[in-house]
Amino acid sequence: MTATLLDGKAISAQIQSEIAEEVADFIQNNGAVPCLAAVLVGEDSASKVYVRNKRRACERVGVESQLHRLSANASQYDLLTLVAKLNKDHDVHGILVQLPLPSQIDSRRVLHAVAPHKDVDAFHPENVGLLVQGNPRFLPCTPHGIQQLLERSNIEIAGRHVVIIGRSDIVGKPLANMLMQRGPGGNATVTVCHSRTHDLQSITRQADILVAAIGQPRFITADMVKSGAAVIDVGINRTEDGLVGDVDFDAVREVAGHITPVPGGVGPLTIAMLLYNTLSAARQ
Ligand code: NAD
Repeated sequence: MTATLLDGKAISAQIQSEIAEEVADFIQNNGAVPCLAAVLVGEDSASKVYVRNKRRACERVGVESQLHRLSANASQYDLLTLVAKLNKDHDVHGILVQLPLPSQIDSRRVLHAVAPHKDVDAFHPENVGLLVQGNPRFLPCTPHGIQQLLERSNIEIAGRHVVIIGRSDIVGKPLANMLMQRGPGGNATVTVCHSRTHDLQSITRQADILVAAIGQPRFITADMVKSGAAVIDVGINRTEDGLVGDVDFDAVREVAGHITPVPGGVGPLTIAMLLYNTLSAARQ
């Protein structure tokens, strides 16, 4: 079997064109332009690329974007002062603090300082709580992108066994929560695996939908995948061969039913859902 490719780029383009229409309506009805403020601290080259891509995507759908830069040796106070200013700015609807932050800064404190109704990454405890209760204000961008990718590719989620490898606050934990909720896009039976999981392969082989969010190149091999499973590769690893995912793509595609490429899979969806949240923040 050769798996059907899940084209994240095409699905993201579709979502972005839907958002562009809604942004145009919003501007017409409200006379205000949805605005995302991105905060970039330091010179991390991957972070610069991520922020640039996010701002370009904003431009494509008619969302305004601001870039606020601080130097690599900025203090926590500097960053908290900037966040407080953006929280108060009525022209700013969404705030994105690009991670990772330099080591002198306590990331958690900064993320908790973002006003919950501008927290388009959905990292604030209030938004995490609402998500867990099944009443989300914002859905976190990467998990939401994965849910959209599955739904728009007509991959059944309800009643199926989803195995997620990785328990990060950004991907694994919120995704598990979303897919187990009652309602559309949910109702799955979810297992979360991590670095302390015993006999990982026996669990991953049970997955109807296998999500890899580990950060280790080509970690998921063909013998870990059930025939016909949908394999979602969240990993972005920089190697000598270029960008590769957490899945051994060439071998796994011979076993899986559906598979996402890296790049061009989950990544583009993450950006689309950030735009979605920015529009939703402006509406709120
Ligand atoms: P993280 O680095 O915070 O955590 C990795 C997780 O993998 C941990 O929960 C750990 O328990 C688990 N893990 C590590 N080794 C393991 C092993 N041997 N067996 C089982 N589990 C193991 O993860 P993250 O921030 O969720 O990022 C994961 C990957 O996804 C990274 O490559 C990151 O760059 C990528 N990512 C991509 C997007 C996107 O938009 N495509 C978004 C976020 C993260």
